[in-house]
Amino acid sequence: MRISGGCLCGEVRFECEADPQFQIRCYCADCRKLGGAGHAGWMGPVAADALSTSREPQWFVSRADSGNEVARAFCPTCGVGVFGRNGMMPGMVFLRPSALDDPEAFAPQMSVYASRAPSWDAPPDHLPAFPQMPPMS
Ligand SMILES: [Zn+2]
Ligand SMILES: [Zn+2]
Repeated sequence: MRISGGCLCGEVRFECEADPQFQIRCYCADCRKLGGAGHAGWMGPVAADALSTSREPQWFVSRADSGNEVARAFCPTCGVGVFGRNGMMPGMVFLRPSALDDPEAFAPQMSVYASRAPSWDAPPDHLPAFPQMPPMS
């Protein structure tokens, strides 16, 4: 499907053709801070090459629990996050559903790090919830 989105001020726009396999709500502390809520949504992966952007965003890099380097892209002007990368999957990006033009294009399948959800943003009952990351096979 065609996916497009952008930041609040419109400087950083992105577009791609992709069928994201992985659509989650993450309640880890990093995503809480990043998401401006009790969690952040992620959808992907999309090949970085397949993603066209209006300009290079600013990146913030940190290390996840897993030891992997995680980078989040945001607009240098308005600060809104647009996508991210995980060292575990080089060359791929994960989109931020909060930045989508059509928010309904996001269909979360599960909640991860649900054990860290704050009381005011409980994981929804209709989705499977994993205390941490689900086992990867
Ligand atoms: Zn912006
Ligand atoms: Zn997270």
